[in-house]
Amino acid sequence: MTTQNPAWRQPLPEFRDPPPAKEHAVTCVECGSPMRLRYSDQYARHFYGCSRYPVCEGIHGAHPDGAPLGVPGDKETRQARREAHAAFDDLWRSGDVGVNRGQAYALMNRELGFQHIGELTKEQCEQVCEWVRDCYRFLDQPPREEIDDDH
Ligand SMILES: [Zn+2]
Repeated sequence: MTTQNPAWRQPLPEFRDPPPAKEHAVTCVECGSPMRLRYSDQYARHFYGCSRYPVCEGIHGAHPDGAPLGVPGDKETRQARREAHAAFDDLWRSGDVGVNRGQAYALMNRELGFQHIGELTKEQCEQVCEWVRDCYRFLDQPPREEIDDDH
């Protein structure tokens, strides 16, 4: 045997094995194929990816235990969720309102009764966007994109 340092065989310290998770039956909203539970090292979280990937790029979020995040929606619903999420993220990321992510979720939950944007309907997503606008209105300050002259 060589005297090579066995440390090179060890995973990098920051690497974590995916936590155990159970795959649920999830149907791809894009093409109707079954989805497989996968793990993203980059985001350190589970998600569902279409079994036809890369032909189909349908994805759906998952809880750490593998349960699908909310209810898979149709294309319109998912677009609305993306918009609601973007508005919501901007709310706490901008720092304008003075809340962090956890506080923003707590506020949304208190004001609207929502916990996960991933399980909202299109109409509820519109409520989130409206609520975010109200938060800025309260500050007498429009959301950033509306200050943009290009609009
Ligand atoms: Zn698919």
